Formats: sequence, structure tokens, C-alpha cells
Amino acid sequence: MKLAARVDRVSPSLTLAISAKAKAMKAKGIDVCSFSAGEPDFPTPKHICEAAKTALDEGKTRYGPAVGEPKLRQAIARKLNNDNNLNYTAENIIVTNGGKYSLFNLMQALIESGDEVIIPAPYWLSYPEMVKLAQGTPVIVETSADNDYKITPEQLERAITPQTKLFVFNSPSNPTGTVYTPAEVKALAKVIVEQDILVVSDEIYEKILYDDAKHLSIGSIDAEILSRTITSNGFAKSHSMTGWRVGYAAAPTEILKAMAKIQSHSTSNVCTFAQYGAIAALESSQECVQKMLTAFAQRRSYMHEAINAIPQLSCPKPDGAFYLFADISQTGKKSLDFCNELLETKQVAAIPGVAFGMDNCIRFSYATDMETIKEGIKRLAEFVAR
Ligand code: GLU
Repeated sequence: MKLAARVDRVSPSLTLAISAKAKAMKAKGIDVCSFSAGEPDFPTPKHICEAAKTALDEGKTRYGPAVGEPKLRQAIARKLNNDNNLNYTAENIIVTNGGKYSLFNLMQALIESGDEVIIPAPYWLSYPEMVKLAQGTPVIVETSADNDYKITPEQLERAITPQTKLFVFNSPSNPTGTVYTPAEVKALAKVIVEQDILVVSDEIYEKILYDDAKHLSIGSIDAEILSRTITSNGFAKSHSMTGWRVGYAAAPTEILKAMAKIQSHSTSNVCTFAQYGAIAALESSQECVQKMLTAFAQRRSYMHEAINAIPQLSCPKPDGAFYLFADISQTGKKSLDFCNELLETKQVAAIPGVAFGMDNCIRFSYATDMETIKEGIKRLAEFVAR
């Protein structure tokens, strides 16, 4: 059979593949410590589940508008105004099948053959693949641990060509946990406006911030940058709603209309009663978010220290998200071999940095319980010592 050429241009998602493998091993009774997918281990807060159950009982089981339930779009617009100082109305919002589909849909709406999309590395592994699936060219700009894995305004400016359409910005970042300071965000915004390109700001980890780290939504700086910004977000990480698949994008009207068109021919609306869970997530107390954050903060401190105590491994202390990006250069191993051997010999699952564009590192998600973290680190230390 001859499949479409686009299939050969992309690789399957390693985060999903490795976490599925770890889950399957666990189901077989194998004692796996999984640091693979960024999936909070907490159950979805009860009041959110209750709201979805009530919606089911009330018959919210039918097709809705492809762009999302009006009540949810309004709630999202309110949240973006109040929390992020982003001047959007409900008409600027599209509810999507997870934050992931908001990005995929955007690429389909915006990118075509000949277009370049700038992506700082290390990056979340699906960004370049989404660009390629839209026939565009990902332009990867490497950053380094010395600069906290941040792209500088000079680097961004140098990467821009007449073909550049979009810059992908992700803070707090997956896989490094880096958070850009408000001043750094403003400096990047200046380049974007001066060079007249667009930016998609993936803010899925905005609520997961430690110590004094502050999140500034790039679109909130002024009207000039807002007109060039698409903001992407969702409920998976903040409210432990990974399987619900509810995310959203906020965009200028013209882009929003284009995304709505694509959504009307692809997914249609996101599961109607799930959207009612999302409304409850936004409109109830945010205490549950804070509770999870407190747990993440403890795990981060423990794991950061423990990994740095292992000879040959080192990692910076992240300011946000729930990932540690550890440098394995001193072990002399490539990231894929390291992760495969670690899983086979010690039943510890982590994601090879090569998937994020950095082969000398591996990513650990600490969105898992302390017991797993302690046992996993013990096995990791034994593995490296061997
Ligand atoms: N975004 C999460 C991660 O990086 C979930 C898996 C995925 O969709 O890649 O682990």
C-alpha cells in the first residue's frame, strides 16, 4: 500500500509511545517507575467531574457549535482578561480537542509550503511535526543550558527571513521548565512586532510556577503584539484533566474564523459534557490548582537534588512546569540508548532528549507520586553507577 508522503515526514510521538509502553508494562504486573508523559497523577477534582455528570444527566450529549459552547467561550475570555490581562472576547475563542489540537489546527490554518516557523530547541516534540504536517518548514534555533535554554531576541531576529510566518513560544517550557522573565518576554515581543511576524504562545503550564517565577502572556503587552498573537492553553495540566481533551486557542478574528472552518471539517465540537466540566474548572475556586502546585514543588526540590547527587548527571532547577531536563553527556550515552536501557534493565521510564531536539539530555516528568520518585531515583543511580 502506498501511504501519503506526509506520513514519512513525521515520527510518532515518543512521549505518548513511551508512556503507553510504561502503562502496558504496569498492567502486566511489572513494577515500573514512570517519569514519561507529563500527566499529573491526581484525579480530576471532584467538583469538575460532578459538573460533567450533571451535564450528562441534563442531556448535554448533543452536537454543539464547532467552536465550543458559548458559556465556555465566555468563561475562557473572562479568565484570559482577568488572569492574563489579555484583551479577548468570546468571539476570539475556539475550544479544541486539548491544547494540542489548538496548535495543530492553527498550523493548518496558517502554514503552507514555503512558510518557515521558528522553534527554539529544546522544544515540545509535536511542534516541528505539526509544522511539517502543514507542509511548512520548522526552523530550529538551538539554545543552551548556559542561557537557561532561552532564545535571545538577537537569536530570534537572526532566524527571521522573508519566509518566516510564525514563532512558537512556550513559557513555562516543556521539556526544560524554563520560565522567561517579563522583561525577556517584552524583548522578544519587540522583535516580533518590528519584524511583523506572528507568535503562538503555548501557555499550557502557566499555572505551574515556583518560587518567584512570574508568567507574562506575550499578547498582554500591547495591542500591536496582541494582533500578532495566538494564545493556546487547556485544562490538562492545571486541573489534571488530561483525558478530557479540552483546550483552547484565542486569536484575532481572521485567524479564529479560519480555525473554525478547519474544526468544522475535522473534529467538530469538543465532547459537549466535557466542556461543562471545563466551565466548572474555571468558575469554581482554584484551590485545587494550588494544592497540586504544592505537591509539584516538593517533588521538584527532592528530585532536582537527587538527580544532581548522581555522579555524571546534572540538571538546572526549573522555575515552572513539572519536568527536569538532565544532562547525560558524561555517561557517554546517546539519549535513546540511555532511556531504552534504563527501561529494560531498571524499569524506569524517561523521555530521550533527542525527541526534543537535544540528544545529550533526558526528560523526567515529576508529575508522579513521591514513592515512585524515590524508588525511580534509586534505580537511576544504580543504573548510572553500573
Ligand atoms: N505534553 C505532554 C508531554 O510532553 C503529554 C504527552 C504529549 O502529548 O506529548 O509529556
